[in-house]
Amino acid sequence: MRYYLGVDIGGTEIKLGIVNAEGEIEASSAIATEPEKGPEEAAERVWNWFEGQGPMTNEALSAGVACAGLIDRDKGKIITSPNLEGWEGTPLREIFTSRLSRPAVIENDATAAAYGEFRMGSGRGTLDFTCLTLGTGVGCGIVAGGKLQRGWQGHAGEIGHTIVMIDGPLCSCGSRGCLEALVGAGAIIDRAKRKLESSSGGDLEGIEPLTVKAIAAAASGGEGLAREVLEESGRYLGIGLCNIVHLLNPEVIAIGGGVAGAGDLILGPARKAVGEHVMHERLAGVRIIRAELGNEASLLGAALIASMESVKE
Ligand SMILES: [Zn+2]
Repeated sequence: MRYYLGVDIGGTEIKLGIVNAEGEIEASSAIATEPEKGPEEAAERVWNWFEGQGPMTNEALSAGVACAGLIDRDKGKIITSPNLEGWEGTPLREIFTSRLSRPAVIENDATAAAYGEFRMGSGRGTLDFTCLTLGTGVGCGIVAGGKLQRGWQGHAGEIGHTIVMIDGPLCSCGSRGCLEALVGAGAIIDRAKRKLESSSGGDLEGIEPLTVKAIAAAASGGEGLAREVLEESGRYLGIGLCNIVHLLNPEVIAIGGGVAGAGDLILGPARKAVGEHVMHERLAGVRIIRAELGNEASLLGAALIASMESVKE
């Protein structure tokens, strides 16, 4: 049996898995990232876990390493990452290739998640598939005609920084009115805070800490401010999705990440907005669904990308 190693480096946790040639995760775990200790130390701890898995690791042909941010795949370096401060410019691919003793590829985490969903989750059976990861940031990966799309420099899919409101709220990228600044977790929480300040508070009163999960729990009770917050967020998400539909005409758009946990409370208004704004009803046939693989999507996708690239060689 051939195996591939999958690694997904987040700001607090590194998810690890061994994936077989069928795309099934045979073993998985998570360790602390501790980014301040640097990538070499992280790679060492990653290897310790894989080494403990014995024969499967010994038979693994290559490794895929996913992380958030702008990745220079050609040079194997992180250009900028929101949650791996100090790792910019370090030769991440080289570090992992050397420590794991097999060829490693590095990949943006949302691109990896989209590829994982395309092969083994919500995108199975399609050729034109877009997958959004809605969390603190808004990531996206695109499959068109059955092929993962990367763009000229490898940065295709930055839907989070497409502008949906001129002069809108400030985004982490420095621009204003980006989709991320309207539907990222922070934006949803800010929307709830504004409603709390300007009215009696209602079902949002006393929620501590105010998180998207807590807002969704309050909203599931029925009409109220919490539901308004998610409806408004869902409408902006729908505008973003509508732009994707017009640009790419996907069969399925899957939504994953923490914010997607709000389910139809946010996806319902998003679907409605897509229906209202597409140029022709034919385009409204796109299926907007929840992603299926949860937080293992990126490590699975990274391992599958590694397997795809080792086949090519
Ligand atoms: Zn932005």
